[in-house]
Amino acid sequence: MSITSSEPAPTPPSGTAVVLDGRAVAARVQQAVAARANEFAARHGRRPGLAVVQVGQDPASSVYVRNKRKASLEVGIESFAHDLPAATGEAQLLDLVKRLNRDERVDGILVQLPLGKGVDTNRVMDSIDPAKDVDGFHPVNTGLLAQKRPRLRPCTPFGVIRLASEYGMALRGMRATVVGASNIVGRPMALELLLAGATVTVCHTGTRDLRAEVERAELLVAAVGKAGFIPGEWIRPGAAVFDVGINRTASGKLVGDVDYDRAAQRAGWITPVPGGLGPMTIAMLLSNAVDAAFHRAAAAG
Ligand code: NAD
Repeated sequence: MSITSSEPAPTPPSGTAVVLDGRAVAARVQQAVAARANEFAARHGRRPGLAVVQVGQDPASSVYVRNKRKASLEVGIESFAHDLPAATGEAQLLDLVKRLNRDERVDGILVQLPLGKGVDTNRVMDSIDPAKDVDGFHPVNTGLLAQKRPRLRPCTPFGVIRLASEYGMALRGMRATVVGASNIVGRPMALELLLAGATVTVCHTGTRDLRAEVERAELLVAAVGKAGFIPGEWIRPGAAVFDVGINRTASGKLVGDVDYDRAAQRAGWITPVPGGLGPMTIAMLLSNAVDAAFHRAAAAG
């Protein structure tokens, strides 16, 4: 089923949304990545390499890092673990990144955020070689995306685009609204949607009438970080809803930013939390790591 730009708004398939199965699509992406990782190894005599740096033991970060390392190994990417004490300072981190930039076995460098107190996160992230920036957060990669010539693309927004495309959504001409304007999700998400030809609105804490903006959206991306922040009745009937939020409730349940149960009765398409953009983000990270490996090998001649 596809949304075409000639329709004023997508029509819900049945009154209950189609659930966008991020787990299944991510598994397909990972299969393709595994095949490309094998091809790289056969051609270059080594596996693509991904260095994952974690500072301290923030519980959420530890879960993400573990999942990323496990997924790397599953697709045949060599994983280099750098687990540093919470007290690691900026100079030590800059030094580690410098070494990883030079290490020929390392094609991708991922520095898990947040970093320790007193560390200038921008300085550390900016020190990563843009050719190894598999998170796509470096200003060079953000700038290339802004200029319609993406190279390494931020994983979560890239995951939204890939998921939409797997379900046959034609984004060109769609009225898309992104709620959240962070450097790692909201802003690059807006750039990705613009690149795909959507008409994009970005909402943030300064937005005057959030409800009106959400109600207009044929495609909604929620990236706020507040459980159930978007009420189901704000969802435009038939809209495609991508919920990036990952929030833990008092009872320990993981939920998104959208009130899922009621939104699913109005939306045409909706991502679950968990099982939506979480797995897609990891799959796109692995895809970036293999892309980075091939690009670097090509640049080296
Ligand atoms: P952030 O805190 O950096 O940014 C939140 C954004 O929401 C800000 O731009 C802010 O302006 C906006 N916002 C906050 N309150 C608002 C309000 N009342 N009205 C309108 N806008 C408001 O968060 P982030 O890093 O962008 O992450 C957002 C969520 O996505 C979090 O739950 C995070 O855990 C999740 N996340 C998920 C993945 C994934 O793999 N699925 C990846 C990254 C982040």
